Amino acid sequence: MQKQYDVVITGGGLAGLTLSLQLKKAKPDISILVLERRESSAEAAAHKVGESTVELGTHYLREVLDLKGYLEEYELPKHGLRFFFKTETKQDITERVELGPRERLPVPSHQLDRGTLENYLAKLTQEKGTELILGARAKSVDISPEGHTLTYYNTDEEEFTVTAKWIADASGRGSFLKRKLGFSKPMDHAVNAVWFRLKGVIDIDDWSDNQEWKTKLKPGLRYLSTVHFMDKGYWVWIIPLGSKNTSIGIVADPAVHPFETFNTYDKAMEWLKTNEPLCFEKLSNPDDVLDFKILKHYAHHTERVYSSDRWGVTGEAGAFLDPLYSPGTDFISMNNGWLSDLILRDLDGEDIGLRAEIYEKTHLTIVDNWIPVYQNKYLLMGSAQIMVVKIFWDWAVYWSVSAPIYTNNALTDLRLLKELFSKQDSLGRKFGALNKKVQDFYLAWLPHDNKIFKNRYIDPFDLAFLRKFQQGIDVQHERNDFAKKIGENIEMLEKVAAEIFRLVSAQVNGTSRDIPVNPYEMDLSNPGAMTKNLHERDPEIVKDVEVMWFYDKEAVTV
Ligand SMILES: Cc1cc2nc3c(=O)[nH]c(=O)nc-3n(C[C@H](O)[C@H](O)[C@H](O)COP(=O)(O)OP(=O)(O)OC[C@H]3O[C@@H](n4cnc5c(N)ncnc54)[C@H](O)[C@@H]3O)c2cc1C
Repeated sequence: MQKQYDVVITGGGLAGLTLSLQLKKAKPDISILVLERRESSAEAAAHKVGESTVELGTHYLREVLDLKGYLEEYELPKHGLRFFFKTETKQDITERVELGPRERLPVPSHQLDRGTLENYLAKLTQEKGTELILGARAKSVDISPEGHTLTYYNTDEEEFTVTAKWIADASGRGSFLKRKLGFSKPMDHAVNAVWFRLKGVIDIDDWSDNQEWKTKLKPGLRYLSTVHFMDKGYWVWIIPLGSKNTSIGIVADPAVHPFETFNTYDKAMEWLKTNEPLCFEKLSNPDDVLDFKILKHYAHHTERVYSSDRWGVTGEAGAFLDPLYSPGTDFISMNNGWLSDLILRDLDGEDIGLRAEIYEKTHLTIVDNWIPVYQNKYLLMGSAQIMVVKIFWDWAVYWSVSAPIYTNNALTDLRLLKELFSKQDSLGRKFGALNKKVQDFYLAWLPHDNKIFKNRYIDPFDLAFLRKFQQGIDVQHERNDFAKKIGENIEMLEKVAAEIFRLVSAQVNGTSRDIPVNPYEMDLSNPGAMTKNLHERDPEIVKDVEVMWFYDKEAVTV
């Protein structure tokens, strides 16, 4: 007889396993089958990428799934994202403009050893009653209102059939449902990546004897950061792992660095020698290499995410944009929040038609709002000045809008979702338009910025508005005040955008620092077209924006 389940999850990676735990937490008697293609438990270190978490995904793992104890015992705490920008030779790390937090961050995040984590999640969900079959490859599915039929193969190519009320596809890049039901969509962002894990600990504090540089941060804090080395068209990551190994990656835009120049281990070492000579010196230890993986054109989109026909996709089986700010786990968190909510309501007998539609629309709007953050932006990576402003802007947007919407459970509140995303004049749409305008402005600024800066350290928490936004992530707001709070944050972002424009236009066009600016109309080639300010200038924000400015401040303080 065919086995029947409430939910069959195809793929037992991060998205599938966390979805099973979230469902079990809400409804312990729910019957779940997870089919995972891998035949045995995951290797520590050399398993998958997706090792660095940021605030939203961390909140999901720690608070929603109650994994705080595990994370604190077995995975590393993370000390934020850290960036080193271009210098002439790149031989001396201490000369490079460095961006990153000095002091321990108030809101936690982690560096995950994905093998260790997935093994733990698999064990935990089985203890809670989920059935997990390893070596099981989902092959075909028949979607039906009476119950879906799913066929899978085991490692001996024997065929099995199960039925389920719900199918949740978490097969990652395998994109099982997307392929079967035909809802793939290309993503216009063609960046490539390679990565490898090295045996042992790598602490960049050991890359220099310069005591002044070393002691800018407490010992061990640089080591716990996700380190990015950047120049035009690329970034290189170094991530420490709890298994006392190190993850290294190269991510590059083929318009500047063709994939063929770094897509094997030997070529990647040659590439490092040319582009990041110090990394080459410190990281090219062939005897310590645990694996080497490549991924061409990693970004992909999706037409669909949730259906009231009782199926949904989560994680990389849906859309994936770019790893620059480590957002993969964030998207899994939101994705699983919506999908589990739909499944649980449906199993309770609720009509989920409208919700499925609104959740899908919101999900796709959020992905689309993030596309301009990355699209063509690898071209900016050779400019320390533009990247510092951009990174701070991107964090401001994430900390003030995306993260609090998640931590305040607004994503499953239909009234708030309507207010935030659905209406024509909604805050979400306004915010999307503002972000797009600012991201386009960085590209317009690029031809005017060619100075290489050195010997500078910049900390996001030197800026009052960034401090305030980051500290606000976990603050719980009254339901009725929440949209107002997001509106206030967007207003602050509008002021920041206007102030950045005034400063850059003063440098590029020689305009006065108090020209009228409406951030929705900013055009660097025609600053005089704006005749009215959207907001009064705020002296605190003027001060904050100047903290990001590396050029001569006097020259632009007109
Ligand atoms: C270069 C790069 C760097 C990244 N860095 C980060 C980062 O630092 N932080 C971050 O949060 N995110 C990062 N990400 C994103 C992160 O990797 C993904 O968000 C995350 O791994 C997706 O998890 P998942 O469970 O959806 O997919 P996966 O982890 O790939 O899991 C899918 C599972 O499905 C199984 N499977 C596939 N097909 C089938 C089938 N037919 N039947 C049964 N099982 C199947 C696979 O074996 C696999 O275990 C990065 C991505 C890239 C490309």
